[in-house]
Amino acid sequence: MITASPDDMQGALRNLADAKEGLAEGEAMEGFHVEGPHISPEDGPRGAHPRRWVRRPDAHEFHRMQDAARGHIRLVTLAPEWPEAPRYIETLAEEGIVVAIGHTNASPIQIAEAVQAGATLSTHLGNGAQPVLPRQANYLWAQLAEDRLAAGFIVDGIHLPGSFLKVAIRAKGLERSLLVTDAAMPAGCAPGRYKLGGQEVELTPDQRVVLAGQTRLAGSALRMDRGIELLMRLAGLSLAQAVGMATLNPARVARLEGRQAGLVPGERADLVEFRFHAAAERIEILKTYLSGRLVYSG
Ligand SMILES: [Zn+2]
Repeated sequence: MITASPDDMQGALRNLADAKEGLAEGEAMEGFHVEGPHISPEDGPRGAHPRRWVRRPDAHEFHRMQDAARGHIRLVTLAPEWPEAPRYIETLAEEGIVVAIGHTNASPIQIAEAVQAGATLSTHLGNGAQPVLPRQANYLWAQLAEDRLAAGFIVDGIHLPGSFLKVAIRAKGLERSLLVTDAAMPAGCAPGRYKLGGQEVELTPDQRVVLAGQTRLAGSALRMDRGIELLMRLAGLSLAQAVGMATLNPARVARLEGRQAGLVPGERADLVEFRFHAAAERIEILKTYLSGRLVYSG
């Protein structure tokens, strides 16, 4: 869920809660990630979020969203440079919400204060940022150097070059690195124009999702299996390392109960059976199980 008006955000969260609780495969959604609206209003860090709905952190608003989501919000991304941010982060962390730093223009000191207040994750690190930064004292280095922050990376081959991925994953350590798709509305669809929130976006033939008529990225059309292939190719990881960045690490960072031990008796059987074509570095999905129930057969 990205930045929008309070009514739209609450409405969308209500729809998501209905989907999670009502659809046959709803439990595939572990929880909701609210990205915004308390982010940087500036071009660059703001990314494709609409500026008119960016606003300062407000715990009352969070509680209205969490009520609309019927308690399913698990992760919140904000920019910690807002003066209200440390108190807001403390409140959410006390309630068990995972707080992430993202779409930010914070100083290194403000990053440190956010971590002190309870932030534990960087959202799609390296994206939602200015094209040019001070070479040393900047929010990317500050987050890379902070061992209490895990970090998510969009590995679609478009958002980040391999050199950044390699260095960032080494800086974080594999166990603190997560693969995220950042998949937006047009993912899995044919190229063309789509609505994302109130904005028009375009899926280009080379699989970029951009604001319509612009070059600014507005999410991705990436699938997890493709992300794992690209992680191996771009960051030089093994298959097992790349799979860990898509499975165990997110479960641990999101503090999902009973999901952190991997494939052992007693854990929920969410399984993907696939064949890995080593020469082509290609994953072929064969079967998918949700809670032990076959939900896809290729
Ligand atoms: Zn984002």
